[in-house]
Amino acid sequence: MARIAFIGLGNMGGGMAANLARAGHDVRAFDLSPEALDRAKDAGCLPVASAAEAAEGAEAIVTMLPAGKHVEQVYATLFDAAPASAILIDCSTIDVATAKRVAAAAEAKGLVAVDAPVSGGIAAANAGTLTFMVGGSAEGFKRAEQILAKMGKAVIHAGGNGAGQAAKICNNMLLGATMIATCEAFALARKLGLDPQTFYDISSVSSGQSWSMTSYCPLPGVGPESPADRGYQGGFAAALMLKDLKLSQEAAQGANVATPMGTRATELYQAFADAGSGGLDFSAIIDTLD
Ligand code: NAD
Repeated sequence: MARIAFIGLGNMGGGMAANLARAGHDVRAFDLSPEALDRAKDAGCLPVASAAEAAEGAEAIVTMLPAGKHVEQVYATLFDAAPASAILIDCSTIDVATAKRVAAAAEAKGLVAVDAPVSGGIAAANAGTLTFMVGGSAEGFKRAEQILAKMGKAVIHAGGNGAGQAAKICNNMLLGATMIATCEAFALARKLGLDPQTFYDISSVSSGQSWSMTSYCPLPGVGPESPADRGYQGGFAAALMLKDLKLSQEAAQGANVATPMGTRATELYQAFADAGSGGLDFSAIIDTLD
């Protein structure tokens, strides 16, 4: 079993590190939060005092941090501590440009790095059923896959460095737009006198069908159980959807690509968050369209 450094033991990283320890790996865990370190200890990881200490002697270094600036800061402290044979696996959702920049900086130090953002929320992180989309070389993917497989149900090679982040933000831009479109359709259907369940029964087997409708229906009592049935608690917070939409818009600007639906979805989730609803599941936006 491998010695693995795990840095960033928050809502997602805590469960992921626990799954690596459960699989028998020797996990050296670091977070700025003492409470997160205590939880990691209870889950079978060895808490250490810094990211550099976690990296000493590690075969793999996994990071699960809030944003690109945190990854850049942590990587700067890791480079001198990590053995030359270590692989760096960043599972955070960050901007494509930073993902490429940190991978190039790692390579300049003789290290292999991949970006490996995830699909699936806190429940999937705890259950070890995440989907990983990996950007990096064929060698980097092969080495990362063995570690990531202990934390997820699918590990997919998206392309070179940054391609994992590109896949993640394009997927979530699509998700944000389809959720809003689904909410709009339910709101209009209701105003036109259609029973929501009847509309669901028709649209879920017709051409308007999407994951937002059939797996994550924004209306309570319609479709399979979803956050709508729990008062929009848990699930995927609107603030995190907004974060991913903003990353998509940053990437679209950099690539000089127009994404009008993504832009509008960003504006609507920004307004939703500004109104104080960022902590609710992202499907709760239906209440602003109804
Ligand atoms: P979180 O805020 O719960 O956890 C982040 C952790 O990083 C915190 O414990 C924080 O103390 C730690 N941290 C910050 N700076 C650090 C540093 N310099 N050194 C060590 N530790 C540091 O966030 P989360 O919900 O776990 O999300 C992590 C990443 O996963 C984000 O990029 C997020 O976009 C992505 N993501 C989250 C979800 C979700 O449902 N929560 C789903 C998919 C992807």
